[in-house]
Amino acid sequence: MAFPERIPVPDGVLEIARTLEAAGHEAWCVGGAVRDTLLGDPQNDFDLATSATPTEVQALFKRTVAVGVRYGTVGVFDPDRVLHEVTTFRHDVQTDGRHAEVAYGVSLDEDLARRDFTVNAIAYHPLRGEWRDPFGGADDIARRRLRAVGDPPARFREDYLRVLRALRFTARFEFAIDPATWEAVTAAASGLGQLSAERVRDEWIKGLATTRSLRRLVSLWDKSGAAGIWLPQLWSAAAVEAWQGDDAPARRDPVVLSVLFLADPVAVLSRLRMSNAEIARASALVSGPAEPSGVAPRDVRQWMAAVGDAADDLAELWRLRHARPFPWAEVMAAVREAGSPLRRGDLAVSGQELLAAGIPAGPMVGQVLERLLASVVDDPTLNVRETLLARAKEIACIR
Ligand code: ATP
Ligand code: MG
Repeated sequence: MAFPERIPVPDGVLEIARTLEAAGHEAWCVGGAVRDTLLGDPQNDFDLATSATPTEVQALFKRTVAVGVRYGTVGVFDPDRVLHEVTTFRHDVQTDGRHAEVAYGVSLDEDLARRDFTVNAIAYHPLRGEWRDPFGGADDIARRRLRAVGDPPARFREDYLRVLRALRFTARFEFAIDPATWEAVTAAASGLGQLSAERVRDEWIKGLATTRSLRRLVSLWDKSGAAGIWLPQLWSAAAVEAWQGDDAPARRDPVVLSVLFLADPVAVLSRLRMSNAEIARASALVSGPAEPSGVAPRDVRQWMAAVGDAADDLAELWRLRHARPFPWAEVMAAVREAGSPLRRGDLAVSGQELLAAGIPAGPMVGQVLERLLASVVDDPTLNVRETLLARAKEIACIR
């Protein structure tokens, strides 16, 4: 693949590169933005790699943020106050599959050699328009192929996260995986247990968000063995092949998609340390009921009242499972539009008012409110203060 003479790099990045080079350092664009631009998807978020040490970078710019100084990364604000990552050329001196200890004072080529995949190890000099591609990344982009830099088994053993990154990039770009790299991916999968749950979670979420085809991503997690370690009972590659649902949905909610593809999503999401709110959403999706019991507005109101905040997630899940629009979507919208009462707070009377009307304090108040809610969900025209108070007295057997 012939390199373009120039690629568009934002002024802010050029400005930072000029400052570094004027001080006698090297500054190159490397990583995702270079790769994506060569793939025909121009980016703004260029990362810079530099020969300057983090201390030198911090001294050269007025406003910096210590993003990951331990790993050589300093955030630098450009004149428009956009933050860019500037990372010192480095190599790994010691790795244990989870963390690396890095050392500076190395060349650009050595820095590129410690990167994960050839397509991520291409450097572009933003001021001179020069290219550096020692591992044939541009050729792999042209052939649409993901290949590890250097010896694949060794590279995955250094950092098992690269296994999951391989699955993500392959699915996102619809690449093939180079056979030796794939063999190393499957051989390394058993080491994935060493990773922290947070890093695995972030990869799963990014993968779901960026893959063109969900089918491809899920198959890759299955076939690589990664699912066996972190996503037990993920749909098998065969099951996902047979699935007729929306393979490239616009909305990529990790909770809804995890519930779709996993047999026990609550257990998996808990282990992945998803937030309590996300785990609660998964639980609500699992408990359902998955759909209204009938087509009448009353059936839809009853379902909406029963599932509460989970209604939209359940509708999306239904759509993904059945590969057609949620049949109740319009009725649901009409119920919302009409402002029909669906929860206790929507009732025309409050617990306080029930007490004032003589309902005895204690569990009775809650029971009466529940019954009133059931009756207004059934028939919203009953949601009138006087009507409800009279009914409450009937329920509580007081006059
Ligand atoms: P994305 O579009 O997901 O941001 P990216 O390639 O920019 O893709 P980043 O995680 O932002 O990915 O990392 C930037 C660059 O740092 C990568 O392109 C790669 O060169 C290098 N890199 C990141 N993570 C690793 C890793 N685990 N092992 C080796 N190199 C890595
Ligand atoms: Mg990136």
